[in-house]
Amino acid sequence: MSQATSRFTVDLDALAANYAALKARAGSAEVAGMLKANAYGLGGSHVAAALWAAGARSFFTAGVGGAEALRQLLGPQADVYVLDGCRAGDAGRLLQAGVIPVLNSLEQVEHWRAGGGDRRPAALHVDTGMNRLGVRPEEAETLARSGLPVSLLMSHLACGDVEGHSMNVLQLAAFRAVRPLFPDARASLANSGGIFHGADYAFDMVRPGVALYGGGPWGAPHPDIRTVATLEAEILQVRDLPAGESVGYAASYRAEKAMRIGTIGVGYADGVLRSNQPNGKIWFAGAERAMLGRISMDTLAVDMTGCDEARPGRFVELFGPNLNVDVAASRAGTIAYELLTSVGTRVERVVRPTR
Ligand SMILES: *Cc1c(COP(=O)(O)O)cnc(C)c1O
Repeated sequence: MSQATSRFTVDLDALAANYAALKARAGSAEVAGMLKANAYGLGGSHVAAALWAAGARSFFTAGVGGAEALRQLLGPQADVYVLDGCRAGDAGRLLQAGVIPVLNSLEQVEHWRAGGGDRRPAALHVDTGMNRLGVRPEEAETLARSGLPVSLLMSHLACGDVEGHSMNVLQLAAFRAVRPLFPDARASLANSGGIFHGADYAFDMVRPGVALYGGGPWGAPHPDIRTVATLEAEILQVRDLPAGESVGYAASYRAEKAMRIGTIGVGYADGVLRSNQPNGKIWFAGAERAMLGRISMDTLAVDMTGCDEARPGRFVELFGPNLNVDVAASRAGTIAYELLTSVGTRVERVVRPTR
């Protein structure tokens, strides 16, 4: 039987520990779980079940389909929110599943009302400066006057991952200003990054995503956050490279001295981005080692000079407990979110511990 040459392992104990760490920071605020994009690529159903076991009772997912699946999995006690809100024709399904749309525009409020949704309270997203989703503060005022039932008033930080950014202070003030419009609604502003800006940002509910999954709240490793996801791949071949020869497509890496290189069975089709050239590294046998030359679709080359342990069949780490996902992401010019959600379908999936 042939096994995959790469594997992606999710540690549910570490996920539960991160949930507890965020809960400790959030004070009395509820800690919801952000499950969009299949729980940032980690696998929505086992992540949801583990977060439920850790005490989470509110969950956000992008679309109505994912919300229906969550309702099915978690039963009637969970509060399931749909970030895409109520698009034309969605109201019936949302009501049927008993899930809560995050209403993002006056148009969505109309779709919700037209489908009879406003018999039930919904979440209302107020834009406080990001200009992505959400009604403007003056529109929120109109909706408040119209008597729209709202159980959760939320907004989202544009710069939550940047400590001391003036935008956070401005958005906090704007959010505080709209809050009295819906005195009966709970309030939620902070993502992972926001939780670490202090108690002022916590309100009644916080909405971490990446920090649950092992990314630092501010785009760099944080001592409170444990590694949850590990990407590893197998050494397919080890070869000696004479001085002056090149490695891989476009011959972009040329050896100045004799080297030993390992060819690893993972590539950009598995989510190891081509932008790892020229700064990417892997971890193997106690040390970080440089990726060499272009990343191929199925393989990449690594400098194994002086490493006697490098042999076909052994696995190297692309990110995980020895090579932090934020560090790996920044070497590829991106963020942990993109690395986690890019892991390809042919990578073997492992969930620990098995329950
Ligand atoms: C994705 C998302 C979050 C979670 O953000 P992280 O930075 O991953 O913690 C919170 N709120 C909203 C509205 C989101 O879209």
